[in-house]
Amino acid sequence: MCGICGCESSTHDHADDGHAAAESMQQESTPTKLIDVETRIQAKNDAYAAQVRSRLAATGTWACNLLSSPGAGKTSLLVETIKALQGSAPLFVIEGDQQTDNDAERIRQTGTPAVQINTGKGCHLDAHSILHQLDHPALAEPGLLFIENVGNLICPAAFDLGEQARVCIISVTEGDDKPLKYPDAVLGSDLLIISKTDLAPYVDFDIGRCVSNARKINPKINALALSAKNGEGMQAWIDWIKTSHHQYQQTGTMLSA
Ligand code: MG
Repeated sequence: MCGICGCESSTHDHADDGHAAAESMQQESTPTKLIDVETRIQAKNDAYAAQVRSRLAATGTWACNLLSSPGAGKTSLLVETIKALQGSAPLFVIEGDQQTDNDAERIRQTGTPAVQINTGKGCHLDAHSILHQLDHPALAEPGLLFIENVGNLICPAAFDLGEQARVCIISVTEGDDKPLKYPDAVLGSDLLIISKTDLAPYVDFDIGRCVSNARKINPKINALALSAKNGEGMQAWIDWIKTSHHQYQQTGTMLSA
């Protein structure tokens, strides 16, 4: 996790005490001290995640955390998802990237409000950064909050953001053994999306093998294959969102496999 990978706390809208602790303690980074720092960072994040979850429950907002490598098509998928959902519920998007507000601007062009969190050298969003966004007026009514995490299948997997659903996206231009290489991202996710199926005829990605690999890590994970470009499989994704949202409204729990 970040205390080891060198991810620093330069998220523009907040300072994370945990990262400061990691930096200072890395000066004398014995294994015992690193484990201690990691534990402290996780405990602090978990406390913020509980606050986020409580705030979302108070407004009846369902939140979905999207994880993937860079370039798997998270933003394109979100744009098409928003087009399909607009009018059915209030929508809001939090975008995480190291730099630029390009993705938030792409979302805003659909008419849906979006905020951009730039993490600087940081490689993930944390619950504290999400908590800071929850006063946005667009989140005052029950609705759907999509959080596009920083493109990275390692560190984001370790940070609960207080979401109700977590989705791991792997595109067909990657390897179908990726679930085995990055198991934590799959283990903590409710749904695996295999994206860019319009490109499947041109690559050697085996969708069935990828799903099988994912279920070796997380036997209960749901799986969908889709293309935001040609619309293939999109309805199943929209249906999954609506089912998960409905279950959350009914029971306050996330959709189980
Ligand atoms: Mg993006």
